Amino acid sequence: MKGFNEKDTIFSRMDLKEDTLEYKEYYKNHPDKKEIDDELRDSDGKFPQDDVNELARAIFQTVHSIGIATSEGSVIKKRNHTIEPELLSKRIKGLAKFSGAVQVGIAKTKKDYFYIDKNKSWNSYNANHEKYGIVFAVRMDPELLKCAPRFPEIIATAKGYLDAAIIGSVIKNYLNRLGFSAFNHMEGAYGCVPALFGQAAGLGEIGRSGLLVSPEYGPAIRLGVVTTNADLVIDNPVDYGIQKYCSTCDLCSKSCPGKAISDSDPIQIEDCKVWKIIPENCYRVWQKVGSDCGVCMRVCPYTWGKAGKNFETPYSKENPDWIK
Ligand code: SF4
Ligand code: SF4
Repeated sequence: MKGFNEKDTIFSRMDLKEDTLEYKEYYKNHPDKKEIDDELRDSDGKFPQDDVNELARAIFQTVHSIGIATSEGSVIKKRNHTIEPELLSKRIKGLAKFSGAVQVGIAKTKKDYFYIDKNKSWNSYNANHEKYGIVFAVRMDPELLKCAPRFPEIIATAKGYLDAAIIGSVIKNYLNRLGFSAFNHMEGAYGCVPALFGQAAGLGEIGRSGLLVSPEYGPAIRLGVVTTNADLVIDNPVDYGIQKYCSTCDLCSKSCPGKAISDSDPIQIEDCKVWKIIPENCYRVWQKVGSDCGVCMRVCPYTWGKAGKNFETPYSKENPDWIK
């Protein structure tokens, strides 16, 4: 894999403002994306501004203030702790779980896991010097997820990002206090693609939906990554049989309201097998439903521990009382 350019993501493209230098430059190099992007941007900003929507915005606002304050920490130089990689890895994994992570693993960094050009980060983070990535998962609230694609689902998403931001911040601060460099990759400040770290560290496999599918929690997780120059002990990828299962299951593809998920065979990109996703189609659904949809997470049998069993997709028509 040659690495991903964050400027190519749908979110970065939607941030481009017409008549700016960045806009002209981007579409000079990507003329094929201009028409669809202009159309999507024209429909943007139509999300309702009511008090219920503000619930999610309040959580995202908090996530972003954590990121601005803490993504890139400063090393406390005087603390020269010597600590064996085995012990440090054990401490970090314990800290992550104690702070609320449901899964945690460690992978060696690969250049391909990082964005080659960034757009949305708040800093000038450079990953080249980091040796390891600590990747962890937090679980999204299943009750709110049952409402997908309706609005409560996005509150579960926002809360997942908040939990991941806090846990990553604690790990980063711990490493900094021991004298190591560390960076908390979190919503709004991802310098890497967390699913690639997650797969490499054995947290799950990248499924048909393009999301990391955990054997215990399915794709209903949010991932955080802390990269560091500390020496750590790595975990290995695990074949849970998830990609094999996805090759015959097409629930997410069949249920996707935007037809954004491939129903064909996966493609091989270097050492990674992935299914094709059409992000523009997905984004259009988000605009329509005023949420981040999440149907692909709700319908996945792994989300409910039902892979290989008879499975009825859960759906709640009623919002929880506090969101009504
Ligand atoms: S979030 Fe919704 S629209 Fe997007 S890929 Fe998943 S199911 Fe499809
Ligand atoms: S719904 Fe089925 S095909 Fe889609 S990710 Fe889950 S197991 Fe794979």
